[in-house]
Amino acid sequence: MNIIDGKAISNSIRQELKVKAADLKKKGVVPGLAVVLVGDDPASATYVRNKERACEEIGIYSVVHRLGVNTAMAQLVLLIHKMNDDPALHGILIQLPLPGHLDEREVLREVDPDKDVDGLHVVTAGRLFVGEKGFIPCTPKGIIHMIKSTGVGICGKNAVVVGRSNMVGKPISMLLMRENATVTMCHSRTNELARICAGADILVAATGRPGMITGEYIKPGAVVIDVGTTKVDGKLRGDVLFDEAKEIAAYISPVPGGVGPMTITMLLDNTIEAANLYG
Ligand code: NDP
Repeated sequence: MNIIDGKAISNSIRQELKVKAADLKKKGVVPGLAVVLVGDDPASATYVRNKERACEEIGIYSVVHRLGVNTAMAQLVLLIHKMNDDPALHGILIQLPLPGHLDEREVLREVDPDKDVDGLHVVTAGRLFVGEKGFIPCTPKGIIHMIKSTGVGICGKNAVVVGRSNMVGKPISMLLMRENATVTMCHSRTNELARICAGADILVAATGRPGMITGEYIKPGAVVIDVGTTKVDGKLRGDVLFDEAKEIAAYISPVPGGVGPMTITMLLDNTIEAANLYG
């Protein structure tokens, strides 16, 4: 069994991004990312700080708008429109989840799709669906890099995705199909989940149910990507029961140190791409 080291892959991509950011600067374009954090959720605050630090490391200009928990929709929309019009900003990210009184889908719709580096706008999702050029959501984009890093080809393989969220399950299924895998999408109502997963050459687990993917879900020699991150007794746990799965899979991503580090790196990658396209 081989570990798919998200941290190492991410570090090597970041070195390439530094060079790309420096090249853009030589042409007079400083890549810029704006992040909006509404409320005081501690986990979100940590994610935002990590994004700020990562931008600094790469040479991306970043600005963070920290807004109170009671921020009104109109005020947030005004800020988003201002950022849409700001030529110094190539990417805009709305940190989720938003406080309950704000409709996330409505808020995301206000972001200019050409600055939608998080890839969650309905137009971005549509572009991915029909195969038009557009930003790829960060977590699924990172997963494709991780699978490719193994050297195992995706074309023609049976890929099973467990989870059908807009952020992970649906886009990763689209991307795997684009890479010519035969994709099965599973969810909480899927019958015989273990049997279906056990036929997967490539298994992506994105449920948020810690340890639900046990050894019997894994095909010998499979590539297993564990997207789940759930805090259990203060520790981050994946969806895959790692100790069982590692005995059967050929390649497996750990939690932590797998998909997580790749997600922020893909945000940086999309921001550089935006600056290249529209800078
Ligand atoms: P959602 O809660 O939006 O979706 C979970 C999906 O899992 C749903 O489609 C649900 O099915 C399915 N599901 C739940 N229970 C089961 C089950 N017992 N059997 C089969 N399917 C099940 O979560 P997200 O997609 O946003 O995130 C999934 C996990 O990935 C979370 O742990 C999250 O923290 C993590 N994550 C990690 C990221 C990273 O960067 N490392 C980034 C994004 C997410 P149904 O639709 O039927 O309800």
